[in-house]
Amino acid sequence: MSMNQTPRASRTHIAIFGRRNVGKSSVINSLTNQTISLVSKIPGTTTDPVFKSMEILPLGPVVLIDTAGIDDVGELGELRVERTYDIINKTDIGLIIFDINQDDFKYEKDLIKEFKKRQKPYLMVVNKIDTVSMDKDFSNVFKDKILRVSATTKEGIEDLKNEIGTTLKIEEEKFMIVGDLLNPGDIVVLVTPIDKAAPKGRLILPQQQTIRDILESDAIAVVTKEFELRETLDKLGTKPKLVITDSQVFLKVSADTPKDIMLTSFSILFARNKGDLEELVKGAKAIEKLESGDKILVSEGCTHHRQSDDIGTVKIPRWLRQHTGKDFEFVYSSGYSFPKDMSDIKLVIHCGACMLNKSEMMYRISQVVAKEIPIVNYGVLIAYVQGIFERALDPFPLAKMIYEEE
Ligand code: SF4
Repeated sequence: MSMNQTPRASRTHIAIFGRRNVGKSSVINSLTNQTISLVSKIPGTTTDPVFKSMEILPLGPVVLIDTAGIDDVGELGELRVERTYDIINKTDIGLIIFDINQDDFKYEKDLIKEFKKRQKPYLMVVNKIDTVSMDKDFSNVFKDKILRVSATTKEGIEDLKNEIGTTLKIEEEKFMIVGDLLNPGDIVVLVTPIDKAAPKGRLILPQQQTIRDILESDAIAVVTKEFELRETLDKLGTKPKLVITDSQVFLKVSADTPKDIMLTSFSILFARNKGDLEELVKGAKAIEKLESGDKILVSEGCTHHRQSDDIGTVKIPRWLRQHTGKDFEFVYSSGYSFPKDMSDIKLVIHCGACMLNKSEMMYRISQVVAKEIPIVNYGVLIAYVQGIFERALDPFPLAKMIYEEE
């Protein structure tokens, strides 16, 4: 990956769903102006999901996912259908494509149900409008707006792109890093320690992404180290709206930041951006109810190289032991698979999920919450055991209220 490429987890994932031979692959090709997946008149040509990273104007960097036909038959077909449903978890927006000539809509209705269950946005798209002489009305079949396209003549494709953009914008606003807390012209001070753990010659991705979000909100980003924070605040001559710090130096930064300036940490911002902050705060509070010997699942989004003081296997067990005075049994999962059986798990601790997109992380949280198991992530757990919630949740009244509830 070149330095300027957008990591896959940060790209918008757009997946195309529908029966075999409704023209899913052709719609992708029309959206992208390229031939990127197998298109054939033989039903079922796309067998497994096909992922392709690309830029689509005006949507920007995306991952397009072409899925197998949802009406695929036979034993292998069922497996493909299961995989196709799994893709919904990774999807930021789904396009459910159907053929204007079809008159049975069972599979499309099943897909809509799956999207609703997972609270994922989708658009209904009727393809092949060039093959009929009279337009058809589907308002008695679907409650959703139907977008009309022809992948062959490209009619309706620009409207489809615009609709995808509008839907994504609404979704994105729910998941901003910090922009929703800011007004144009606000000043935000970012505290980024430059120590041995910092990578050479650059800021880490969460710091870069936060600066970008501040700039996109027409606010002003000021970056400093923890030792220069006091001087920075003095020299600014005006109060910043917010100070954001690395959690390692939270206590020092909190002491140096006047109480009437909001302060939070990158890890809290990203816990909110990648997941559901309120659920994660509930998960942190559940630590107090753990008993010695309880089983805790530590789940990581990738199989990264473990260092000797690895956070998941060494630091977190140690911090929990120190905080509670109890010993627990830890079990681990990593990578794209997320365990379905959690029958005797008392707490799930998830990593920061930098390699997973927010859709996947939201799905994981909802799966765990549905089993009535508390879930917390590394960032929120660290903030909790460090005792910094009191102040770091100030910008998020709902999460703070949950924290303060008995
Ligand atoms: S935080 Fe990122 S690098 Fe670390 S385990 Fe999770 S996905 Fe992998």
